Amino acid sequence: MTRFISPSLSGLSPYVPGEQPRDRSYVKLNTNENPFPPPPAVIEAARREAGKLNLYSDPDCLYLRESLARYEGLKPENVLVTNGSDEALSFIFFAFKGGFIFPNHTYGFYKVFAELYGVPYEEAPLKPDFTVDVDAFITSGKNAVIANPNAPTGLFLPLSEIERILDANGDRLVIVDEAYVDFGGESAVSLLGKYDNLIITRTFSKSRSLAGMRLGYILASKELIADLNAVRCSINPYNVDRVALAAGAASLECEEYFREKLEAVKENRAYASRKLETMGFTVIPSRANFIFAKRDGVSGEELYLSLKKRGVLVRHFKKSGIEDYVRITVGTREEMDILISKLEEILV
Ligand code: PMP
Repeated sequence: MTRFISPSLSGLSPYVPGEQPRDRSYVKLNTNENPFPPPPAVIEAARREAGKLNLYSDPDCLYLRESLARYEGLKPENVLVTNGSDEALSFIFFAFKGGFIFPNHTYGFYKVFAELYGVPYEEAPLKPDFTVDVDAFITSGKNAVIANPNAPTGLFLPLSEIERILDANGDRLVIVDEAYVDFGGESAVSLLGKYDNLIITRTFSKSRSLAGMRLGYILASKELIADLNAVRCSINPYNVDRVALAAGAASLECEEYFREKLEAVKENRAYASRKLETMGFTVIPSRANFIFAKRDGVSGEELYLSLKKRGVLVRHFKKSGIEDYVRITVGTREEMDILISKLEEILV
């Protein structure tokens, strides 16, 4: 870093996204993208809106907020639209007092945001079976952040457990990151009417095939949304571009396509999980669009490197406690077959 950097940022360790190599074409199973393109109506809506790019986007994101509110059975004042759910999380970590607690193995950006904004945080170890230790969240006195389903495990925490944290921490927030909820979780949206300390973040990146669009949103009480909106408008009031707003609204109209592709991902997840188990892998039961798996006798890094050499990219985390595992995004059936055949080659 240069001598010009702010002292508070000199120790910054930024989030490292999954690699996007350009040296050859890969079967890309490392960043939990949806293998299916967005539906034609979404592409058409984006194309139509592109003709108006000389004009700023709506700083209130009103049309999409109304569409999302209708879709979720809420009011527009319960919705804030963001530039990917990473931005939603960024606003949350920036806005609220009291520090944060999240599992030791979870989405890596939580720690990055806490460090960036200089807020205290605590990492609660997952239990040996990778489930969340709910009691640690109840006693910590900090705002809880829980990805549900969690990443990179894919495990789902029942809503009754989320409620235990909400009940015990009325003066602290519970942030539920539902990036992967559509693939088999259960949304906490039904609890919003009951708890004024609940915040839900969502994304169009995974189940809605719009990772490249950068579109996310927050669902919470009108008051919490107003707090977060004040932060948003103090950083970037045009935080979401008009093409993304149009594509997002069109996406909500494509229910049949959405359901069909979700089913395909779930089928491919079951198919690949079965095949991996037959090959001797331990597979964590996933409710997300990825599979967390290990095979005794082969390190996670070895698997990752051998697959990469053969043109298949998966994600490996060099982190004590999960270093034996690889995280494999669920792709098309063809991609899953390529993965399995490359693993068969590696493991002979
Ligand atoms: N939460 C979790 C748990 C994730 O895995 C991701 C994707 N890397 C995000 C949030 C952010 O996704 P996006 O910014 O694309 O909405």
